[in-house]
Amino acid sequence: MADRLVILGAGESGVGTAILGKKKGFEVFVSDFGKIKDKYKQVLLHHEIEWEEGGHTEATLLSATIVMKSPGIKDAAPIVLTLREKGIPVISEIEFAAAYTEATIVGITGSNGKTTTATLTYQLLKDGGLNVALGGNIGKSFAEQVAEDKYAHFVLELSSFQLDGIVKFHPHIAVLTNLSPDHLDRYDYKYENYIAAKFRIAMNQTADDYFIYDADDEEIAKWLATHPIRSKKIPFSVRKELEEGAYIKNKQIILTIDNTNLTMPIATLGLQGQHNIKNAMAASTVATLLKIRKATIRESLESFQGVEHRLEKVLRINKVLYINDSKATNVNATFYALDSMETPTVWIVGGEDKGNDYSELLPLVNEKVKAIICLGVDNEKIVNAFGNVVDVMVETQSMQDAVQIAYRMADRGETVLLSPACASFDLFENYEDRGRQFKEAVRNL
Ligand code: ADP
Repeated sequence: MADRLVILGAGESGVGTAILGKKKGFEVFVSDFGKIKDKYKQVLLHHEIEWEEGGHTEATLLSATIVMKSPGIKDAAPIVLTLREKGIPVISEIEFAAAYTEATIVGITGSNGKTTTATLTYQLLKDGGLNVALGGNIGKSFAEQVAEDKYAHFVLELSSFQLDGIVKFHPHIAVLTNLSPDHLDRYDYKYENYIAAKFRIAMNQTADDYFIYDADDEEIAKWLATHPIRSKKIPFSVRKELEEGAYIKNKQIILTIDNTNLTMPIATLGLQGQHNIKNAMAASTVATLLKIRKATIRESLESFQGVEHRLEKVLRINKVLYINDSKATNVNATFYALDSMETPTVWIVGGEDKGNDYSELLPLVNEKVKAIICLGVDNEKIVNAFGNVVDVMVETQSMQDAVQIAYRMADRGETVLLSPACASFDLFENYEDRGRQFKEAVRNL
């Protein structure tokens, strides 16, 4: 009898896993507690895969040989607890799919910068002529692309939830962009549990593998000091010179690996800002390890224009630049956004607070922000944190109003920045919706 693969959650990773499982001879069943989107139902139908929605039929699920849990489902969900009690392995899409590919895997994780670094890395490898795909937390699922069986390299954006569900998964090159507290509700409100989840990316690596990390990040340094890893560590830093790895000297990125050197003037990078220098360092380290030519790396770094909703330049109107950083859903991401502002800034901030501590932003706000527009249902924390630091503060609950107020406040040569530091769910569907509404309101000015 065929092994039974049960899939919890019929989103991108669930449906991708179903396709791969079916192709590999599993008897596949997909179960979603909520409603399944029509487009995914069509795919399941097309592949003749059985599914249920609006609840889990326990008896059916307990007949599984193996279960794939989508990253959005908590480990504490009753059905997951029941499955584990019965000794049924519950793994992530990444774990399941990686077993069916011989491709070289680059895994990218971190609290911020995953999408940007993964997309940039993918671009460098693709421009370098590698047969590479981008997947994981981004775009088309990894599992579905493994099922297509076309690629020799994968760049995977990996969330901590995906890493929670791995057993043997083993990227040849791992990148840890940085650490700052996030999603603590899923980690018993313990920061160390979240950090441990991120470091699972290196847990199955061997001495033939690589671990690329931000050497300026104190939490990463602390963890590595007490939890040695087997792979070869390659650091990057914007603060100190390094013998091996990437650092800055004379306004250039210098990357040294195995006695080869790559230099790249910072001013020519397509993406600006300290955080993007770090992302560029991480991506070019990966590309160098995979033997992409220096000239190609330089050219792709120059031409890369970034990912939507991440410090995305929208328009310049009356010499005022409008920037959409809707993806900044935590304080750390907004820190880097404000840090990269070069002119007085009207800052649109707020949304659903995830337990933010705004104090680290105070010096930057003091230096760069001329007015704050609060855009959230409850703005009390922001008003309390910054009320004494800026002269002008306005509250609103509509993007259109926020943009129009910003338009009136900003003078020539200044910047209007949407970088909310908060989740979007109080007023918007998600951060993409928030970013799109911002852009539309700007275009309608
Ligand atoms: P993720 O996929 O980890 O959420 P993104 O690349 O989507 O990361 O960026 C999320 C937010 O963090 C954006 O506001 C972006 O400008 C900011 N950001 C990007 N790279 C970094 C970095 N290395 N450190 C801190 N913030 C970053």
